[in-house]
Amino acid sequence: LGSSLRGTLDTLQGKSRLSKEDVDEVVREIQRSLLQADVDVDIVMELSDSIRTRALEEDPPAGTSARDHVLRIVYEELVALIGDSTDLPLEPQTILLAGLQGSGKTTTAAKMAWWFSKKGLRPAVVQTDTFRPGAYEQSKQMCERAEVQFYGDPDAEDPVEIARRGLEATEDADVHIVDTSGRSGLNEELIEELKEIEGFVDPDRNLLVLDAAIGQGAKDQAQAFGDAVGVDGVVITKLDGTAKGGGALAAVNETDSTIAFLGTGETVQDIERFEPNGFISRLLGMGDLKQLAERVERAMQETGDEDDWNPEDMMKGQFTLLDMRRQMQAMNNMGPLDQVLDMIPGIGGGLMDQLPDDAMDVTQGRMRDFEVIMDSMTDEELRNPRVVGAERTRRIARGSGQPEERVRELLEQHRMMERMIKQFQGMGDGDMQRMMKK
Ligand code: GDP
Ligand code: MG
Repeated sequence: LGSSLRGTLDTLQGKSRLSKEDVDEVVREIQRSLLQADVDVDIVMELSDSIRTRALEEDPPAGTSARDHVLRIVYEELVALIGDSTDLPLEPQTILLAGLQGSGKTTTAAKMAWWFSKKGLRPAVVQTDTFRPGAYEQSKQMCERAEVQFYGDPDAEDPVEIARRGLEATEDADVHIVDTSGRSGLNEELIEELKEIEGFVDPDRNLLVLDAAIGQGAKDQAQAFGDAVGVDGVVITKLDGTAKGGGALAAVNETDSTIAFLGTGETVQDIERFEPNGFISRLLGMGDLKQLAERVERAMQETGDEDDWNPEDMMKGQFTLLDMRRQMQAMNNMGPLDQVLDMIPGIGGGLMDQLPDDAMDVTQGRMRDFEVIMDSMTDEELRNPRVVGAERTRRIARGSGQPEERVRELLEQHRMMERMIKQFQGMGDGDMQRMMKK
């Protein structure tokens, strides 16, 4: 998954215009990726049409390759489909969670409460599930872990009555999260109960909680919940598993809502505010292009303008230890180099495979040692590390208080990176240069 899409995109390297065949091929791969991520077939077809039309009709802006052009169209169309994250003002409000049993409502309630508490609000969870044995205990424990207020009553039978007492008991909280019971499938009883609770609580927002593995069933569920109480936002849970959550797009589409949160684990901290870029990257199994561009830009701003160091020179000519030091500083700001490279289509896969595993493995601790060692090197040695033989190694080691072994490691690391840079230099399309320039 993703790699065939990447492969197809790579065949567009260097082209400035796309033929109809090129576009068809890209669209086919996008379709494959989206269907594998459980995106609804109708949605995939609709998306394909708009991508195909735009890719053929719109000319790539000057200086943009056909591949980047088509990638941007794909990205824009997906953003348009998925939308921004559900609006959630940081102010007093009541949120109702709905969904089938096991979708992750109770877990999400505690997670959201934790999230709001980190934003400086005072949340409380009201547990109205009288259907599932153990719901009270589970909810109570999670809320304790989240260190948020909780109300439930294991002996009560009427969910509306629990909601009434719960809202009263937690009056001084400013965000109320009302958890409801689910059923193993959609049925009249569930919907009726939900309507009653919703009618009484009168929430500001109803969130539909969906398991990432939901697949094609999302549409019917969303419709049923939407008809009953209205859906303002969707929470996709269990994204830490293998499912990519594409099924939830049908729910968003069906209810004309957006995605609010993503659940990424079983503990109360495993919650993320939805953000289209990362989600789309995950769906397509491709690198996070937007974030990459921003991170590279930030990193280059922080390290690039201390003197006249120009990453482009590095790409053209020699790769010195001075370049390596700048690289390491940039990496500190961007994250591990292999992850950064993996985000760039065309570089990630193929090239990474040709490098030894530890070529990228410069840990933060080792970087600090390397810094210290470089401080003990002369300008000549930094500019031309080839001159460092056994004798100079000894001197540098003594001067820096590092073992000779570490000095040799630094030189070895430099040689590996030099080799890698040479390979970039050999790349026709110049992804790296463009990336560095941004
Ligand atoms: P509810 O019936 O809708 O209230 O669902 P629960 O909150 O009880 O969750 C059902 C199961 O899914 C529990 O075992 C949770 O621990 C698990 N779960 C919920 N959210 C996540 C998540 O984001 N990741 C993982 N791995 N498990 C989750
Ligand atoms: Mg529950």
